[in-house]
Amino acid sequence: MTSYDAVVVGSGPNGLAAAITLASSGASVVVLEAKATPGGGMRTAELTLPGFRHDVCSAIHPMAAAGSFLGEFGVDVDWCHPELALAHPLDDGRAGVLHRSVGDTAVANDSPRWSRLFDTVVDHWGTVDAELLGPMWRWPRHPLTLASLGVRSAPPATALARWLRSERGGALFTGIAAHTNTNLSWPLSSSAGIGLAAAGHVAGWPCARGGSQTIADAMVARLVELGGAVECGVPVTTMNDLPSARAVLFDLTPAQVERIAGDGVPSRVRRAWSRFRRGSGTFKLDYALDGPMPWTSSDARRAGTVHLGGTWQEVAAAEAEVRAGRVAERPYVLVAQQSIFDDTRAPAGKQTLWAYCHVPNGCTVDVSDTIEAQFDRFAPGWRDLVLARVVTTPADLESYNPNYVGGAIDGGASELHRVLFRPDWSVDPYRVGDTDLWLCSSSTPPGAGVHGICGRNAARSVLRAIG
Ligand SMILES: Cc1cc2nc3c(=O)[nH]c(=O)nc-3n(C[C@H](O)[C@H](O)[C@H](O)COP(=O)(O)OP(=O)(O)OC[C@H]3O[C@@H](n4cnc5c(N)ncnc54)[C@H](O)[C@@H]3O)c2cc1C
Repeated sequence: MTSYDAVVVGSGPNGLAAAITLASSGASVVVLEAKATPGGGMRTAELTLPGFRHDVCSAIHPMAAAGSFLGEFGVDVDWCHPELALAHPLDDGRAGVLHRSVGDTAVANDSPRWSRLFDTVVDHWGTVDAELLGPMWRWPRHPLTLASLGVRSAPPATALARWLRSERGGALFTGIAAHTNTNLSWPLSSSAGIGLAAAGHVAGWPCARGGSQTIADAMVARLVELGGAVECGVPVTTMNDLPSARAVLFDLTPAQVERIAGDGVPSRVRRAWSRFRRGSGTFKLDYALDGPMPWTSSDARRAGTVHLGGTWQEVAAAEAEVRAGRVAERPYVLVAQQSIFDDTRAPAGKQTLWAYCHVPNGCTVDVSDTIEAQFDRFAPGWRDLVLARVVTTPADLESYNPNYVGGAIDGGASELHRVLFRPDWSVDPYRVGDTDLWLCSSSTPPGAGVHGICGRNAARSVLRAIG
């Protein structure tokens, strides 16, 4: 059997990023993927009708576009930008809007404080990317800049929403912060809002032309160019399934790694992992439509992403319901309408729609009606356009990808210290104790999303260990 420097289990964005980082340092590396195609959360398929290409998981990629990974390793993605990154409609027909420019966003939302919040973060994006999105294993090179950025992320998202002194600005910010289902009244719950909005100001909120699958395809092509390989249709269930290697990297959640590696995971590490809480579940709907969504808000009609849920107070209340283990009556819904700015997604004149909301982990309730009631609220008449619909429940997500335990798509909850220290408090959260095993998935810093940074950081840890 061939022997490698490193074997990576799982070909999600982080598994592929780890493999590319290793291969570009001259290491021999193979990626083993359970499914028939590579990509993890970056797959695109005709879920509803022929000719309608839907993103099965990830759709919109601010962190991939603004982050340094793809550029650093020469991975080319053809980004499509909507006219407006994001709209958050309110009941009066107006909407909070995220423009590329910080100043335009402040003006459009009648919130001068938006600039006070974001100017510094955007000016120092390079420092955020280099120092905040990685593990805390060395003293920062720019401690004062980091401290000033940290101050912005420290307050609860609801406190920042109030501080913005604008109904539209507050709704816009809270909707972005609510991407990770944290308690929006807790300290540090602003961090996703700060990071994703700032990434939008730096690089927009684009989708990949042709679908998220094209990001996976570009990453695989780069890996192969560097001498690495991906083998699909290889589910790894025990360590005996692996070829010999100096390092094994798992693009999996800790629970899966424990099942595969058994006693290979030290008991001290297992105890620490047992305190890593699961995130909320996800309930997703995909549609083939006969035309564009008839949003009441003209801003929503030209935005790539639309957040539904009303005022910031309503969004915070809906997310609090989910955290309390209940289904929200009026959920906060994330919507992407890629086909209005990427003409490869649907036949001429037709459209696709991608939407999901948070539900309690493992929830078995069908929440389609509550999601669709939010469409009725902000886009009356939309039902006449529906050609086909596909429902994906938390259980469907978990059977699609065992990383999505109970429908959680974040690799583990991102609350309080778990933003930076996940899945445990170790200085090097990627290495599993002092074994030859590493975690490289979104269960490690900086967490969920297609950005490849968890994988790159894990690969750097491997390179330090094996030289
Ligand atoms: C519905 C949904 C919407 C999302 N929207 C966005 C978005 O718009 N933007 C964004 O940036 N992110 C989004 N995400 C999140 C993003 O997709 C994930 O955070 C990201 O894919 C995590 O990457 P990963 O490499 O850590 O793991 P994954 O993408 O989960 O990849 C893990 C891979 O490992 C494979 N695998 C699992 N078990 C085994 C095994 N035992 N043996 C071999 N292979 C195995 C899986 O098949 C999978 O290919 C979304 C996710 C979902 C589900």
